[in-house]
Amino acid sequence: MTAFRALTGHEKIKKSLTGAIVSNRVSHAYLFYGPPGVGKRTAGMAFARALLCSGGGGDACEVCDECSRSKQGVHPDLHLIRPDGASIKIRQLRELCDGAVFTSFSEGRQVFLVEQADRMTTEAANSFLKTLEEPMTGVVFILITDELTGIPPTVLSRCLCYRFNNLSRADVTKVIMQEAGSAELAHTMAVLSGGSPGRALALLGGSAGRDRALEMALSLAVNSRSAMPVPPEEISGREGAQEFVNYLTVLFRDVMVVQQTGLGELLINIDRQDDIAVLAGAYDRREVLDILLTAEETARRLAGNVNQRLALDSLLLKIAGF
Ligand SMILES: [Zn+2]
Repeated sequence: MTAFRALTGHEKIKKSLTGAIVSNRVSHAYLFYGPPGVGKRTAGMAFARALLCSGGGGDACEVCDECSRSKQGVHPDLHLIRPDGASIKIRQLRELCDGAVFTSFSEGRQVFLVEQADRMTTEAANSFLKTLEEPMTGVVFILITDELTGIPPTVLSRCLCYRFNNLSRADVTKVIMQEAGSAELAHTMAVLSGGSPGRALALLGGSAGRDRALEMALSLAVNSRSAMPVPPEEISGREGAQEFVNYLTVLFRDVMVVQQTGLGELLINIDRQDDIAVLAGAYDRREVLDILLTAEETARRLAGNVNQRLALDSLLLKIAGF
């Protein structure tokens, strides 16, 4: 349970929401949308806590009773709604809407945070709309979604919408620094994540996949043409194969950068500079370009309906120099 000041990035949004609280111009319904993993839910939670804080400073003060309750996740006026199974059902919304009629425990606000709001069934959305048409004093809804197109226009038109964008590499690095343990690994995952701290954390959890691709490339480069390459056993399913090809693409992109510029600081896999240098010495520029083109073709074939093993084999053969 965070506060706005501990949330990295999204400066304009934080300023706008804080300003609304301080100037007492809070709307009844907000919609936070944008790509996954960029901090919409965290921001929604920070906003909810700021709304409930009795300090009035526009952000959770962390010293009042309200803040200590919301921090522990036991604030009676902070309600979380998330899909029950595949969707948010009318039953859940009815409970929510009935709840919204009651006065708050602290005679202040009541905040409803709706996660994956695009998963509302039509009936649920209609029922929700009724609540939005007759808003109760002090009731604030915060809807969160990755899929703006899944929100009915009638609901959309009654919400104040905030678009959350991808974060800068520097901001993602900052967010995942503690989990990464080293600045180099944090940088690498920040670049690979494309600006999503959530994706960067998932990549960190799966950084074994990157290391597997690197080991494979190194062994093929060193033992080239000595044996038919075999994809690592751990790769399973289409997604696993796509991820493996993605890692190989990024690796050889780095090899090309080293060959063309000699600059280690431009690498995505900046934490594995020595290994990239080994690969850069094992291939000439034309071969690296060939590998990258084959990787691109492999990714395209994997996205289509092809035999995964065949698609991977052609890439590994290219890397092995056959
Ligand atoms: Zn407080």
